[in-house]
Amino acid sequence: MTSNSLTQPLIEIKNLRKVYQTPAGDFTAVNGINVEVQRGEFVAIIGKSGSGKSTFINMITGIDRPTLGEIIINGAPVHSFSEGQMAAWRGRNLGVVFQFFQLFPTLTILENIILPMELNKLYSKRERRERAMHLLEKVEMTEQAHKLPSAISGGQQQRVAIARALANDPPLLVADEPTGNLDSKTAEKIFSLFENLVASGTTILMVTHDSDLARRVNRTILISDGEVVNEYLVRALSTLTQDQLVEVSRGIKPQIFQPNSSIIRQGEKGDKFYVLLNGKADVYINMPGGSELQVNQLKPGQYFGEMALLGGGVRAATVKASHDGPVSVVALNEKSFNSLINDSRTLREELMGLVERRNTYNQLHAVSSLDEKALGSILKEAKPVIYNEGHNIIKQGDVGETFYLLLDGKVDILLKDEHGDETLVDQLSKGSYFGEMALMGNKRRAATVRVS
Ligand code: ADP
Ligand code: MG
Repeated sequence: MTSNSLTQPLIEIKNLRKVYQTPAGDFTAVNGINVEVQRGEFVAIIGKSGSGKSTFINMITGIDRPTLGEIIINGAPVHSFSEGQMAAWRGRNLGVVFQFFQLFPTLTILENIILPMELNKLYSKRERRERAMHLLEKVEMTEQAHKLPSAISGGQQQRVAIARALANDPPLLVADEPTGNLDSKTAEKIFSLFENLVASGTTILMVTHDSDLARRVNRTILISDGEVVNEYLVRALSTLTQDQLVEVSRGIKPQIFQPNSSIIRQGEKGDKFYVLLNGKADVYINMPGGSELQVNQLKPGQYFGEMALLGGGVRAATVKASHDGPVSVVALNEKSFNSLINDSRTLREELMGLVERRNTYNQLHAVSSLDEKALGSILKEAKPVIYNEGHNIIKQGDVGETFYLLLDGKVDILLKDEHGDETLVDQLSKGSYFGEMALMGNKRRAATVRVS
């Protein structure tokens, strides 16, 4: 293994296409997919029935061959393998789990797991049985080891199928609707088994119909008509349904902004909502005196521009492409933004909360970077309060809406654990502020602040 083989992606897919020849003419099932998967990722592949998920996954496992494009897994150019090379490579590098388990009906559970080890000869004869029992233990199926598949339930068969997929200790597990034929309680068990595998280092690609399960993985790839819907758009708008996401992604073209150029400007009227797809964007607010203060940096998958659309129509901040590279964004107009938030209560609530937090956050940054004179003029209205040694200014768990600036003295920040024991996590001195966490969404105080 070369040293860079661990840093390169486990899977690199470039311009992957599959065109089926049908009596009615050519049919493009996968239409130019580009995806990289890093080691250790747990990726859910979602999309309507017929969108091309299985075709996509079958080209990764070598069950189907691409019409065009490249699939490189662990450095191996899988797309160019012959059938024989493919079978040998797959046996050692890939575990595959299907919707309908596909265990050999005439072999016992134990024999089903030993079989792939016999085919690949990675483990010695003596090791195979012991390893198979160990894998059965992992999926809690040792007691059924000597039964035939027909004697156990569907959920149990799927657990055995997972143990079989792990027989040759592959770095990658690919599963096509592994819970599609199971009730939700059993599906949950299979899913948590996958979570354990990911925690111990296996990379998993899982096609699923279950949106609730899909939400719990690291990463979601949404396929629509054989194409991947931009992942950052999916992430930004994760509260939408699959149909809404596909709808939004239709007909929007990414726009590119050069480094340092403004995308929106504070004070201007704005009627577009943006999702950042690529690069970084810096958020600035205007300061008294005319300078700009950077309050935030946005990453792909984050959105901006919602404050004007939900508020008075005027931009609350300036957002610029950062200096270190161009950014790409998609802009939604007010009409599609409004229809989105009308259709999705969750998105509406998420945005409302965000607007409130961003407002407070901007004010906080403005306050904390003011000099004493400017601070003085803001605080003219506010009366200083003096607290004595040992006094709790705010108490963890209490509901609070006040934000404090420390004018003199020192305070301790204390966190209480579930046994009620306090730990000193920080000490603040003159010029610091506290109490902002409760204002930024979570209304209960996250810590106790006590005069030192
Ligand atoms: P999904 O798994 O997302 O439900 P599939 O990948 O199975 O979708 O299928 C994608 C599209 O390709 C469907 O319209 C399907 O009818 C078509 N398709 C799949 N396999 C073949 C084939 N062997 N020949 C022709 N068309 C196919
Ligand atoms: Mg399918």
